[in-house]
Amino acid sequence: MTTQARTLSEAPASTTDSTDPAAGAAIGDGSANANWLNRYTDAVMNTFGAPGRVLVRGRGVRVWDADGKEYTDLLAGIAVNCLGHAHPAIVEAVTDQLSTLGHVSNFFTTPAQVRLAEELISLTFPGPAARESRVFLANSGTEANEAAFKIARRHGGGSRPRVLALQDAFHGRTMGALALTYKAAYREPFEPLPGGVEFIPAGDVGALRNALGPDVAALIVEPIQGEAGVRELPAGYLEAARELTKAVGALLIIDEVQTGMGRSGAWMAHHLIAPGVVPDVVTLAKGLGGGIPIGAVVATGEAATLLGPGQHGTTFGGNPVACAAALAVIETIGSQDLLGRVERLGSAWARDLAAVDGVDQVRGRGLLIGIGLTEGLPPAGEIAAALAARGFIVNAPRPDTIRLAPPFILSDDDARAFTTALSEVLTRALSEKVGS
Ligand SMILES: *Cc1c(COP(=O)(O)O)cnc(C)c1O
Repeated sequence: MTTQARTLSEAPASTTDSTDPAAGAAIGDGSANANWLNRYTDAVMNTFGAPGRVLVRGRGVRVWDADGKEYTDLLAGIAVNCLGHAHPAIVEAVTDQLSTLGHVSNFFTTPAQVRLAEELISLTFPGPAARESRVFLANSGTEANEAAFKIARRHGGGSRPRVLALQDAFHGRTMGALALTYKAAYREPFEPLPGGVEFIPAGDVGALRNALGPDVAALIVEPIQGEAGVRELPAGYLEAARELTKAVGALLIIDEVQTGMGRSGAWMAHHLIAPGVVPDVVTLAKGLGGGIPIGAVVATGEAATLLGPGQHGTTFGGNPVACAAALAVIETIGSQDLLGRVERLGSAWARDLAAVDGVDQVRGRGLLIGIGLTEGLPPAGEIAAALAARGFIVNAPRPDTIRLAPPFILSDDDARAFTTALSEVLTRALSEKVGS
């Protein structure tokens, strides 16, 4: 591990930083979290339920709440803060760009935007496809998928009204991406959604073959379904999907919003899971900006030409500050061999986690890890709360799964400390179960 990464993961123990007004207000009678949460409830729409904590500061893999409690952040803003918090490369890139030129609109371009598009093409399509690839820059994952959906609509000039998505898929919350998202509780309150979307069982090649035809514009898949509990598509599925979509002229769209930008141990999870498969469209966001909002669509071949002038747009997309952050992320991952780090730490950690009593199975790749709990344990949300009390931030995408998506700079010691804490929490939960 590099010296810089080690330094970053060892944040100072002091939480009484008097130069930080938020932290300063925090240290006191231990009621700062509760006070902020009350004000939150009175000011912020209740779309997320009550937040677990009020966070005021972060450095490396640590964050601190308003009452001064320290946490190891193993969720990283849901697979976003891939370099941890306050990484000097991102801070410097954003500061330099913002103090030089902060925003220009899409009547203009900037060197940061052009350089990022070039980088994304070579990372996403490392082979000959790079030559005929183009990028659209957006601000989030759902927006990247909106653009991909519009590309699919343009494909076939009206003769391909159908779009296939997978059961348990998550592609975002705006109306188009929501139409591609499986969960009924997310979708149904907002119907009618854009039409023509059909869901087929994930990983079932026969079902895909039956559903495909010359009227299908596209198939959209996540290589590892994150929100569904970190479930990778079975071996061979992406290869079959590529062959079958090509045979009927449908586009293959791979949503790498959560799995991309090194999280799996490769730049793109599909490079690992299905080497040789070249999709038509790849969508990115989460880790791309290392914490600064940005999304991207990288398309190749005909798909790269389907949106013409006036057919899509965004005021903020391609903003130079966001592009500078993404360039810093890419440069740092590359120069510090963080892909290798993610791969090595991820596989060793997964082995250790799988040996913990109460863990049924460990899924995922690299540092996107789903810990499947054995039957009969309390819901994963309760386990996550017990871990938060011990100073570890994780989440529970399903009642039987804990998700880890930590910064790539996590140290071996921090990973081990979590494994020990998980073991203690699950041992206690198992013994309470036996005792009850
Ligand atoms: C998070 C996520 C999205 C949505 O991204 P937002 O930035 O929250 O809009 C889309 N697809 C996948 C696979 C995701 O994990």
